[in-house]
Amino acid sequence: MPAPTPAPQDIAFPGVLKLEVDATDTERRIFGVRETIPVAKAGPTTLLFPAWIPGAHAPRGQLEKVAGLVIRAGGKVIPWMRDPVDVFAFHVDVPQGVSALDIEFEYTSPTATDQGRVVMTPEMLNLQWFSVALYPAGYFARRIPIDASVRLPDGWKFGTALEVASTAGGLTRFKQVPFETLIDSPMFAGRYFRQIDLDPTGPAPVRMDIVADRPELLDATPDQIARHRELVQQAYKLFGSHHYDHYDFLVAFTDRMGGIGTEHHRSSEDGTIPGYFTDWATTPASRDLLPHEYTHSWNGKFRRPADLWTPNYNVPMRGSLLWVYEGQTQYWGFVLSGRSGLLSRQEALDALAATAALYENRVGRRWRPVEDTTNDPIIASRRPAPWTSWQRSEDYYSEGQLVWLDADTLIRERSGGKRSLDDFAAAFFGIQDGSWTPAPYTFDDVVAVLNKVEPYDWASFLHARIDEVAVKPPLDGLARGGWKLVYTEKPTDYFKSAEARRRSVDLTYSIGVTLNRDGEFTGVQWDGPAFKAGLTVGGKLLAVNGIAYDADRLKEAITAAKTGAPLDLIVKNGDHFRTVRLDYRGGLRYPRLERIPGATDRLSAIYAPR
Ligand SMILES: [Zn+2]
Repeated sequence: MPAPTPAPQDIAFPGVLKLEVDATDTERRIFGVRETIPVAKAGPTTLLFPAWIPGAHAPRGQLEKVAGLVIRAGGKVIPWMRDPVDVFAFHVDVPQGVSALDIEFEYTSPTATDQGRVVMTPEMLNLQWFSVALYPAGYFARRIPIDASVRLPDGWKFGTALEVASTAGGLTRFKQVPFETLIDSPMFAGRYFRQIDLDPTGPAPVRMDIVADRPELLDATPDQIARHRELVQQAYKLFGSHHYDHYDFLVAFTDRMGGIGTEHHRSSEDGTIPGYFTDWATTPASRDLLPHEYTHSWNGKFRRPADLWTPNYNVPMRGSLLWVYEGQTQYWGFVLSGRSGLLSRQEALDALAATAALYENRVGRRWRPVEDTTNDPIIASRRPAPWTSWQRSEDYYSEGQLVWLDADTLIRERSGGKRSLDDFAAAFFGIQDGSWTPAPYTFDDVVAVLNKVEPYDWASFLHARIDEVAVKPPLDGLARGGWKLVYTEKPTDYFKSAEARRRSVDLTYSIGVTLNRDGEFTGVQWDGPAFKAGLTVGGKLLAVNGIAYDADRLKEAITAAKTGAPLDLIVKNGDHFRTVRLDYRGGLRYPRLERIPGATDRLSAIYAPR
């Protein structure tokens, strides 16, 4: 085996990297890169392309899209050699008398969705610096200074957490930052742009920087802006701190550029639906995105699991505490949605019902603990899975959310309503106000702060719910919150919004399938009625009771089958056609929460604004 790539050291890099990105070729979706990397001495040196992407928790750097790599020293092209084991590393032999390497390459970003997430359209782009920069091996990323600049199409505006040094024509130079800050500070730029100030009088600027497919999508009502402003205030009341000197929500209203939700210390990438403002009434299922990513500035970026923190982007990350990083962020994301008014109390309760139902039916817990799903970013890389209810997925997000509801209601019950998980949030995330230097933590640190808030055997509580295979879903928080999960024939408005968002017909809790608009089965619930009848993901439903498939007709037939004949389905799978009899009599079933008469209504207290 070749010698390993030099490990990163906590020492100052001797010199300043210079990076120039040409992002004007939006038609071909190609980023042009020119970079200068100083070298201290002649001899072997190693340059790295970022592999382990923060927020992805996996080696998802798109190395295959690097093309045209040429390295020059003193004006002469010199050969590079890719490391045969660590393929993200490029070895170069620096000639005598050379002080810097001049690098050129193209980042050929996806021209179609099957190549990856589209990051450039004729109207907007998402510049992610980890795709357009090599960096020297052997140093902590925070010890490598870099001067970065970008050229954008004429007339485009942009948002980023980086601070501008100068702008001339389409070229913007940014103030020097550590390489770590550059990677943590992506850009959204676009032809149609609007900035909204979300905290005119607060301790640090907080802004929404919005790009959109069309200019009319940028229209926001004063009420919509007020709710986003309230998000900032409710977050401050919850955490009692902020971990940025300014914060930019980088928001895209688009169905052309790929969707995204990625957290950073001082910004977040929030790619959402075109009608985020303009279709407000029917799209509540899109509104926990900003509260979720904002929460990450405290939970994930500032407080960082010790085994997830790495000194650079080519050291493997470990996700053992993602049920805190993502699970509690999922929890606060929905709570802050409710407290800020981005979701009404009813919508927040309906969202919780949808999550509770999903995990009540997630039969994969019979074999796989939540903890093991923290490996899924690496194992599955978010590829679609045929049997999610059995295989499980990144369940540490939403099953984690339910575990934290369990903990919150337990603290509230045991303390007679005097304390809650809010106190944990203030004590755990609220330290070192104003700092955005990551403060790492371990499992024991989480348990210790929980114990300060409310003495209890939190270690056993968490081990039982996170580390062990469990048949019983973690729904105790609902009952302790004063509510129970029930199924009714009509979906909630929130459930309908979520179906519309996924362009899906969701019959998971009745016959046990989800279908896309073409009638293809996109999900079949493991051990459910459809599963037992032999239906499979990827098959296509052609007819119901002898008549061509249509979503409403299928729902009517499910209702009629309660008292009438079973369903006869014609199903196509590959080039095989067959008739399937589905003897299901339970009618349509959609989750919602129902009050437990007389029980303390802790859920409403949790979602109420502070
Ligand atoms: Zn997240």
